[in-house]
Amino acid sequence: MVAWKKPIDSNKHVCIVGSGAAGMMSALSCAQYVPVTILTDGKLGRSNSIMAQGGIQVPKDTVEDRSAMVKDMLKSARGLASKERIISFVDHIHETISYLLELGVKFDHDEDGDIIRRMAGGLSGPRIISTKDKIGPSVMKALRKRVISTKNIEVRQKCRVEDLKLIEKDGKIGYQISLQTLNDNYGNNIGDHRLEMITTTTVVCAAGGKTFAHANALGKRTTNPYNTNQKIYELLEKIGIEERNKGLYQYQPFGIIMPARGRGKNIPETITNFSVEIQDRNGMKVCDTKQDRLEMVASMNKAFEEERAFEFEEGEWGFKLVVPKEEKELILSVLPKLRSILANDFDGIFVQPVLHYYLGGFEVNCESESKIEGLFLAGEITTGLHGANRLMGTGLLESLVGGMIAGKRAAAHAIGRNS
Ligand SMILES: Cc1cc2nc3c(=O)[nH]c(=O)nc-3n(C[C@H](O)[C@H](O)[C@H](O)COP(=O)(O)OP(=O)(O)OC[C@H]3O[C@@H](n4cnc5c(N)ncnc54)[C@H](O)[C@@H]3O)c2cc1C
Repeated sequence: MVAWKKPIDSNKHVCIVGSGAAGMMSALSCAQYVPVTILTDGKLGRSNSIMAQGGIQVPKDTVEDRSAMVKDMLKSARGLASKERIISFVDHIHETISYLLELGVKFDHDEDGDIIRRMAGGLSGPRIISTKDKIGPSVMKALRKRVISTKNIEVRQKCRVEDLKLIEKDGKIGYQISLQTLNDNYGNNIGDHRLEMITTTTVVCAAGGKTFAHANALGKRTTNPYNTNQKIYELLEKIGIEERNKGLYQYQPFGIIMPARGRGKNIPETITNFSVEIQDRNGMKVCDTKQDRLEMVASMNKAFEEERAFEFEEGEWGFKLVVPKEEKELILSVLPKLRSILANDFDGIFVQPVLHYYLGGFEVNCESESKIEGLFLAGEITTGLHGANRLMGTGLLESLVGGMIAGKRAAAHAIGRNS
């Protein structure tokens, strides 16, 4: 991580907004070609990405497995996704995973050293790879370490993008970014908000999803930590790009309601690799845990309307996640974080669908380009890959794959090439 000494408005320079998986991956792939500045409103890496638990979907490197993943994603999207983007996404997964392996991410493997692949709802075959239940921390730690040691990347932490304007720059479109910063260029806390303006020809916006703000406004539970990501959406609309699939949010079926200390957390969907069942208060099965999220959540909501849910204090409700005793230790070996969350309450887990992911956002093409020249978008802020329903293991992965593409394309744009 270097303190930037050159003028920041150099033409051959890229500004990246956000330091989640999409932002850091964009920065690393871009910095091979041009200087990069990451603008991020918290500490480097503070994001939803670091919360990811269950894993990412990686098909085997065969035509059959890749096309099975394309088919699964198209089915799950219910007509709202771009087939072209899904194919391109799946085609880029292996390059992204190779890079993570190079950075030192160690995925769970069997005794022969082969990476273990697990099932999740809506998948036609096992495809989820993981680092136990810490995929987000493992990937983010590796990305952060590489970002910090890359000379061409300047990191501006605690530096919030407050405004974004289109300007003319050398006869082309450029960007004027207003920042509010609590740090100086060297990371020293200047103790006061300071407004600063920078200009650039090329921006990668990787500011994440806005589920936290939505859940907060409705007073609903969410898996997302506090953030102010929604602000960027207003700025992007102001410069003329329109949100699509606006207001389309995804629920994750395994939000923990009981034991109460687990509230706000969720159980990764890889738990469905075991013979678990979701039961109502009459001991009846509520849904098939092999279904995708949309189907499971619909069945759970229906059962709730039919007054089949368990009720707890202060209007809380949930369904019982029944875990066979003999599989408990095996489950904990795959999902060790559950041990501290559930302690001895393994027989009393109750779950409810909770707000998890923003399916709306801004459209990009397969090159991560938005409709405005020089503006690239990556990660959860984009729409079009998941349609009406995201399959498990494609969120963090979209940020990594999209970030890698956006970074390369942004570098090419900044140095004035088209490819
Ligand atoms: C609890 C949980 C579990 C999950 N588990 C999985 C999983 O197992 N597998 C999977 O594939 N996906 C999972 N996901 C989803 C996945 O983690 C996210 O979709 C993905 O990581 C989003 O990455 P991102 O880089 O697009 O956005 P984020 O990680 O949200 O990063 C956005 C960044 O932008 C910054 N930012 C926002 N606005 C501004 C501004 N105005 N100025 C400066 N900076 C700004 C933020 O501070 C942040 O650094 C999970 C999500 C959660 C919450």
